[in-house]
Amino acid sequence: MTEPLKDLSRLCVHTMTTKPLSLRQCIDAYVQAGIPAITVWRNVLEGVGAEQAGAWLRESGLRVVSLCRGGFFPATSEEGRRKAIDDNRRAVDEAAAIGAPHVVLVCGAVPGLPLDESRRQITDGIAAVLPHAEQAGVRLAIEPLHPMYADDRSAVNTMRQANDMVEQLASKSVGVAVDIFHLWWDPELEAQIARCAALDALFAFHICDWRTPTRDLLNDRGLMGDGCIDIPSIRGWVEANGFRGFNEVEVFSTEYWGMNQQAYIEKIKAAYLKNS
Ligand code: ZN
Repeated sequence: MTEPLKDLSRLCVHTMTTKPLSLRQCIDAYVQAGIPAITVWRNVLEGVGAEQAGAWLRESGLRVVSLCRGGFFPATSEEGRRKAIDDNRRAVDEAAAIGAPHVVLVCGAVPGLPLDESRRQITDGIAAVLPHAEQAGVRLAIEPLHPMYADDRSAVNTMRQANDMVEQLASKSVGVAVDIFHLWWDPELEAQIARCAALDALFAFHICDWRTPTRDLLNDRGLMGDGCIDIPSIRGWVEANGFRGFNEVEVFSTEYWGMNQQAYIEKIKAAYLKNS
């Protein structure tokens, strides 16, 4: 039986969860709401810059859990693959500047490119970025995505595939971000979480819920309790394997983005304590 969450001490919110807010507004709103940690999406750095963002974040006292996101390695041309690698090096620099210990990788896929070829290009891409990441002290977290995104977002769709890549790359700087939205259905999930932890590669844990019906494949995630995922059980698996990091609330939702975001943040806190 998983221990219920008693307080907000391990709650992290992704800036994308409160998409209508700027980075400055996210920082102020999270601090005011007693949320201790933040995961920063790169879109909110635009027009601010990673240096300024880093200064704000340090001053706020918020823990920066990750930078989202790098990846998108596969391409049909050599130049496309090189551009992706350059962009991931920039993401590593931004993560270092804002104090994020890792960059989350949405690994990428190209419609028409065979998935095994995409996975080869992803592994090569990560290997190419790794020396820069190791030098910067920033880790890379592979996030497997639900297979409904295998056409154009990620050819890495299960924990097994992510763990295989971690083993192949054999660096302490490469691990996995477990996102329950993408992985809750996988019959191997519990076993692969254990395998990931044994590889010392369990870097991050993302939570939300799966709505029935899901009205939009991208922007209709539920808050914890809105859907059918047994979140406490999956949290129990990561914790039983030694994970002590933050529970990161990552919700893309046109419906919730339409709410007053202050009220929404209170709703997130309540759902976190009650249903995670
Ligand atoms: Zn995620």
